[in-house]
Amino acid sequence: MVAVLIHPSGGAARGKVNWAKTLGQTVEFMTGDRSQLLTPEQREELLALHPDGRARFWGTFDEAWREDYLKKTGTGSAVVFTASNHVRGVGVIGAVIKNAAFADTLWAPDAEKGSYAFVYSIVGFEDVMIPYAEARLMLGKGPDYPFRSLAVATDLEAEFFGDAVAEGANLPSVPGVGSTLGSAPTGATAPTKTTVTTQRIVRDGAVARWVKDLHGDQCQICGIVLSVPKGRYSEGAHIRALGAGHAGPDTPSNLLCLCPNDHVLFDGGALYLEDGNVYRTEGQELVGPLRTDSRHVIDWAHATYHRENFASIR
Ligand SMILES: [Zn+2]
Repeated sequence: MVAVLIHPSGGAARGKVNWAKTLGQTVEFMTGDRSQLLTPEQREELLALHPDGRARFWGTFDEAWREDYLKKTGTGSAVVFTASNHVRGVGVIGAVIKNAAFADTLWAPDAEKGSYAFVYSIVGFEDVMIPYAEARLMLGKGPDYPFRSLAVATDLEAEFFGDAVAEGANLPSVPGVGSTLGSAPTGATAPTKTTVTTQRIVRDGAVARWVKDLHGDQCQICGIVLSVPKGRYSEGAHIRALGAGHAGPDTPSNLLCLCPNDHVLFDGGALYLEDGNVYRTEGQELVGPLRTDSRHVIDWAHATYHRENFASIR
């Protein structure tokens, strides 16, 4: 079972303030008081996951963080933040720190319950805005289905949120959130577009994951395999864009496994594909053949669409 922590995070006035402080932005943890209050082990753990000394944080009261949450979730588990009748954020639990004094530098203690002593950092946080009504439909739940309580997700929820976290946020493979390579998923020819601040499309995460797994996270353009402490990192890049009126399908034939640099260059039209090769748009210079796999067949009509509409080469 995939462990996903569902954490309320900002419906009440206090929550909104706290959200802005530590989820709406990253926080420096290596300067001044904060650094002093961390134990050497906590500093080391945080720095391993957040080498630039900045991270997003969330936390909860000591008594609320029941034993079983910690047993079932922890570093590497997906976390879903809920607030004001929306799924508001997705990420992965980074370092878990029990440290009331450190917590007090992040958030003012609650008048009744005290410090938010259990603190965790978040890796790959993504701000989303999915109304509960829509999330309930996606989960196949009725109108009474609650999102509010601090809880570990059920299998169905975990699958939904795990996909959103692992692929929506384009994170490194998350332990427990993933699958072994099976047959090619069908995908969705008309992906669901949700009301989100980022104009993000909720993709069929299984499709991007399948493509990335198949290529072993090796960039199909430059061949690099990036390794981070949590595993290999690559991104699922749609050839014909999903949103903004391009209406590309979320299927393996419209997806590439790319490194972040080539993903940006490709999406921005600085690179394009033609006849099995990759070209630089400037000077229409050949970069090299697109790395392929017989199990992953590209639809070259999408490549043509991308070339004409993103690289403006006809
Ligand atoms: Zn690359």
